Amino acid sequence: MEEILRIAIQTKGRLNEGSVKLMEEAGINLVIGRRNLVSPAMNFPVEVLYLRDDDIPQTVAYGAADVGIVGENEVLERGEDVAIVKRLGFSRCRLSLAIPQQMEYHGKEWFSGRKIATSYPAILRKWLAENGLTSEIHVINGSVEISPGIGLSDAIFDIVSSGSTLVSNRLKEVETVVTSEAVLIANHALSPARREILDELIFRLESVQRSEGKKYILLNAPNHKIGEISAILPGMKSPTVMPLAEPGWSSVHSVISEKDFWEVIGKLKRAGAEGILVVPIEKMIF
Ligand code: ATP
Ligand code: MG
Repeated sequence: MEEILRIAIQTKGRLNEGSVKLMEEAGINLVIGRRNLVSPAMNFPVEVLYLRDDDIPQTVAYGAADVGIVGENEVLERGEDVAIVKRLGFSRCRLSLAIPQQMEYHGKEWFSGRKIATSYPAILRKWLAENGLTSEIHVINGSVEISPGIGLSDAIFDIVSSGSTLVSNRLKEVETVVTSEAVLIANHALSPARREILDELIFRLESVQRSEGKKYILLNAPNHKIGEISAILPGMKSPTVMPLAEPGWSSVHSVISEKDFWEVIGKLKRAGAEGILVVPIEKMIF
C-alpha cells in the first residue's frame, strides 16, 4: 500500500485560511467544498484531517495524524510530546497578562494573591511558578476579556495581537509571557516513507517562504555602468548580464527584497539604469 502523510489542520478559525493557503502554495490540491472530516489531495500523497485547534497537538502525539498545523501557544499549553519541525510565520500573536486600565502597575508582584481568568492555565501556572507568585487561576473558555469588567477576575491572561480587544474592554497589557505563530508539528515516530513525504513538503514550503518579500528585477544599462549597477544589486549571486541587440548596452537581472525596494530603485536610476521592470517571484529553489 502506498504511504500517505496525514496532516491535521483547523476546520475553521484564525488558522484555517493560512493553513489552506500553505497547502496550495506547496502545490497540494485539496478536494474541498464539502467539509469532510478527511480530505485527500489529488496530486500529492497526503490527506487532510479537519479538527478543532485544541485537538491537534494530541492527535499528532498519538499518531492519528502524522503532522499538524497549529498555534505554538496551543502546543505549549497542551504539553503533548510532539516535534516542532517548522515555524510558519502566520497567525502571529502573544499571550499576555492584562489588568484594568485605571490600576497602577509597578511590577509582577501585582499579581500576587489576585484572581486571573484565562484559557491557558498551564502556561500561566508555569510563569507564576517561575516568578515565585501565588495567584488564583480561573479557567474560562472564550470571552476571557470581559471577566474583570463583570467582577469575575482581577486580571486576564489571554491572546493579544493588535491590542484593540483589550482597549475596548478598558484593559492594559502589562506582561508578555510568550509569543506565538503557526507551527508545523510532527509525530516523533514517523515511518521512513512518511518522513520522506514530510521532507518533500518542508522543501516546498521553504521554497515559497524564501520568495516572500522578494522581487525579480530587470533593467537596461550602458556597458560602462554595469560595475556600478551590479554593486547596488544585493542579489543571490552576482547579477545575470546579457547583451542587448543595441551595441554598448546590456540587460541586467537580479533579485531584490521588497523592504529596500525604493531605495535600490533610486540608486539604480541615478547610476544610469533604464527600462526597469520589477516582477513577482512565486518560488525560489536552491
Ligand atoms: P477552534 O474552534 O479550532 O478551537 P479557537 O476559537 O480555539 O478555534 P481561533 O480564534 O481560531 O481559535 O485561533 C486559533 C489560533 O490562532 C490561536 O490559538 C492563536 O495561535 C492564533 N490567534 C488567535 N487570535 C489571533 C489573532 N488575533 N491574531 C493572530 N493570531 C491569532
Ligand atoms: Mg480552540
